[in-house]
Amino acid sequence: MRIVVLAGGIGGARFLRGLQQAAPEADVTVIGNTGDDIHLFGLKVCPDLDTVMYTLGGGINEDQGWGRQDETFQVKSELAAYGVGPEWFGLGDRDFATHIVRTQMLSAGYPLSAVTEALCDRWKPGVRLLPMSDDRVETHVAVTVDGERKVIHFQEYWVRLRASVAAEAVVPVGADQAEPAPGVLEAIASADVILFPPSNPVVSVGTILAVPGIREAIAEAGVPVVGLSPIVGDAPVRGMADKVLAAVGVEATAAAVARHYGSGLLDGWLVDLVDEASVPAVEEAGIVCKAVPLMMTDVDAAAEMARAALALAEEVRA
Ligand code: GDP
Ligand code: CA
Repeated sequence: MRIVVLAGGIGGARFLRGLQQAAPEADVTVIGNTGDDIHLFGLKVCPDLDTVMYTLGGGINEDQGWGRQDETFQVKSELAAYGVGPEWFGLGDRDFATHIVRTQMLSAGYPLSAVTEALCDRWKPGVRLLPMSDDRVETHVAVTVDGERKVIHFQEYWVRLRASVAAEAVVPVGADQAEPAPGVLEAIASADVILFPPSNPVVSVGTILAVPGIREAIAEAGVPVVGLSPIVGDAPVRGMADKVLAAVGVEATAAAVARHYGSGLLDGWLVDLVDEASVPAVEEAGIVCKAVPLMMTDVDAAAEMARAALALAEEVRA
């Protein structure tokens, strides 16, 4: 079975690990969000691609959910000693090597998709990891700070400000000019199932869908498309997804997120048991909905979610 998954960082990566346990024989292609990418210290950093690669490759800091395990921060503190920041973005020594290799290859002319493949040669994530695009796309957020309206990089909003002010607009800059990376549309067209893991609907899945051609390809693939809610009990499980949902006028509820994707994209949607009462509202929108446990407390729990998603896919296919 060929499965395509549109993934952000932590939510996507943890779900993928469950999917691998649930369907070890499946051929999985991951289309990763690159709207979070940022240039720091002259290096190209791709946080979501790396979270997927490290998580599936056994190198992730489990407690944190991002970055390398057994990490140290010597380079960062040496940079700080020179007064070189930003100090708010935690790049560890081990992680730096990934960004150096990536930047070196990009400078030599390789596209991001080829670079990602080369990095995965080491990590062997067991999936085909494709960036959504080889073109530069950067998510920016409009905010008002101290009475001044400005537009900042998503990472500055998320990591430095911790989404403490309202996001007035979220814009994937460059997305409208971007092309899907090689293999993306082909993977969608030949998929048996397409899954939206519990990733951020705006700045992860939404950004991938903003690359012209990807949304259309999914809608026209003619195979079951099933999503899992990142919102449980009217709040994000981790992080501040409610802030960016508000920016696009979507309530932070499992049903509102399903309706935001819409029946033009989604055939099936899983909500957590605590949101069972929202099942009819999702079904009214023309999306088959079921309530199952949706907390990825460990890999077994994530695998159970993946089984439920694949079962729902077969149900809507029939
Ligand atoms: P990011 O790029 O690291 O922010 O990660 P993603 O976009 O892939 O996923 C972030 C989303 O995952 C957040 O909105 C969380 O609510 C959601 N999430 C994280 N852990 C869980 C979980 O155990 N269950 C569910 N249902 N959602 C989760
Ligand atoms: Ca992310």
